[in-house]
Amino acid sequence: MVNEAANWVSAVAFERGVPHVYELRKHTYAELKSRGLGAQAAQHVIKKVRDAYTTLKANLGAGNLGRPGSRRRLKAETKPIVFRPEAAQPYDDRCLSWRYDAGTVSVWTVEGRVKNVRFVCSAGAFKTLQEHRQGESDLVRRDGVFYLIATCEVSEAEPYEPGRFIGVDLGIAAIATGYQAAGRGLNRHRRRQLELRRKLQKKRTKSAKRLLKKRSRSEKRHAANQNHIIAKTIVTEAERTSSGIALEDLKGIRQRVRLRKPQRVALHSWAFAQLTDFIAYKAKRAGVPVVFVDPAYTSQQCSECGHINDKNRASQSVFICRNCGVVAHADRNASHNIARKGEAAWTAGRESRVPATP
Ligand SMILES: [Zn+2]
Repeated sequence: MVNEAANWVSAVAFERGVPHVYELRKHTYAELKSRGLGAQAAQHVIKKVRDAYTTLKANLGAGNLGRPGSRRRLKAETKPIVFRPEAAQPYDDRCLSWRYDAGTVSVWTVEGRVKNVRFVCSAGAFKTLQEHRQGESDLVRRDGVFYLIATCEVSEAEPYEPGRFIGVDLGIAAIATGYQAAGRGLNRHRRRQLELRRKLQKKRTKSAKRLLKKRSRSEKRHAANQNHIIAKTIVTEAERTSSGIALEDLKGIRQRVRLRKPQRVALHSWAFAQLTDFIAYKAKRAGVPVVFVDPAYTSQQCSECGHINDKNRASQSVFICRNCGVVAHADRNASHNIARKGEAAWTAGRESRVPATP
């Protein structure tokens, strides 16, 4: 209902050449109230619509929707902004209040205040919520379930001087080397999902399509959950051993990943990007130094003697150096290379940070 009201306000705004908030309020506030929205809710809808136009203008200006006259751009310019029924609803502290001791929220809806709505989250998230929640919360609905997305301002710890570096290999069969078990589990899950998807795709019915969409969302949630766990394991391990974390710069990863076909489908690049993000932000919070390194040759170079040869990688899992003869697990060899590059990058950075003594 709120998004329906937002669509109406959006149409008014568009007709009137997108006026300022106070001007827009003059034309819409009374009607919103008569539609049953409370004062707070009405204000919110108006602001949300105006903000959406500001964002659109910025995007147009930055050329994010193509050149003037392009189809995409014309589509955005010639019609009012539309809010999907499930679009996120932002709430500030006046409209939504949290009661942590009771585990509930009370929220202003179009029909007035609804109190004592129970919420659930993990113990870790609850602690963060209690200590750091700040600003607006978004209410969204997905697959019939309501989610509250709270904003938390978490301070970062001062990074320590790492004794060594842990190299995280995102690209090969294991999602993160040293944590192959977690990676393998994730792959197995994805493969199962993939088989199921193929079966559904053959069906081509409406209900099969709907199920597919739902599946892909739940798959993403599952992957995000796994990524959180892997990131946490890596960051905790780094913290425990006073190590830094070396991550591959993702820009080069697509070219480097050469996997058997089913795996190539299974390991989407967004999952890598997400894992990288998770590790980086968890590390920042814990004060674990993170460096990004060029992923070039990490799978072809020998971590013992430095020899680079594309034949060094004997198979998916085995590394045999053509120069010194060392035999190693391919993923482990690659992660050693990443760690070494990370150490070098950190040292170079430190030298440039510390002023030279005269
Ligand atoms: Zn070697």
